[in-house]
Amino acid sequence: MNNGLAIILSGPSGAGKSTLVKKVNQWIPGMLFSISCTTRAPRPGETDGVDYHFISQEEFEKGIANGDFLEHANVHGNYYGTPKAPIMDAICNDKTMILDIDIQGARQIRASLETSPLSQSIEYIFVAPPSLEVLETRLRKRGTETEEVIQKRLKNARTEVQAWQEYQFLVLNDDVEIAARKLESIIRAALCKTHRTIWNP
Ligand code: ADP
Ligand code: 5GP
Repeated sequence: MNNGLAIILSGPSGAGKSTLVKKVNQWIPGMLFSISCTTRAPRPGETDGVDYHFISQEEFEKGIANGDFLEHANVHGNYYGTPKAPIMDAICNDKTMILDIDIQGARQIRASLETSPLSQSIEYIFVAPPSLEVLETRLRKRGTETEEVIQKRLKNARTEVQAWQEYQFLVLNDDVEIAARKLESIIRAALCKTHRTIWNP
């Protein structure tokens, strides 16, 4: 059984991925969230094992060597990786899992599963801000990064947004309620795909 659904969300830092996922989670019960491993330091309010598995570079490299990651990438100067076991478990057990993965990681997954039946279990969604100016305002307002880190993320955002057409879906996050309803609709539509549905007329 490979009837589960993995929803990959990409988009520049500050685009609103976490915000939209929190909203949609209230409307679609039972969704799971992939908890990535990262070498970046926790932000105030973030909890180890909930927001991320915060690990050292050495532990991360061990994970790579063990083949523990579905994909991994250096994003804004830190390592991020998706643990393989939970996502495989979700797909094989008919669950829906949301993954927040940058464009490099999404490319790796797309390439590695190109000829695999698992590829039909994955939907790729790009979350975009209305403009880079709005993105900057939101990142500053969030107040979770230093000026240096904000500058790095904004610089990377210019490259990241170029990748939007690699995705099957675009959710433009202007009005947050409308954007969250669009994300909900995409997930609900994906859940209705025939290969994921059992019907015996
Ligand atoms: P990401 O997870 O993509 O890095 P966040 O969800 O943390 O982004 O959103 C970045 C900031 O922008 C947060 O402070 C959030 O409250 C705010 N935000 C998200 N969506 C909107 C929106 N549609 N309008 C205004 N502010 C938003
Ligand atoms: P943040 O530090 O703001 O939580 O995340 C920074 C960036 O890392 C975001 O673009 C997010 O999509 C990406 N990211 C988070 N987890 C993973 C992961 O497991 N793999 C990859 N490739 N990127 C990730």
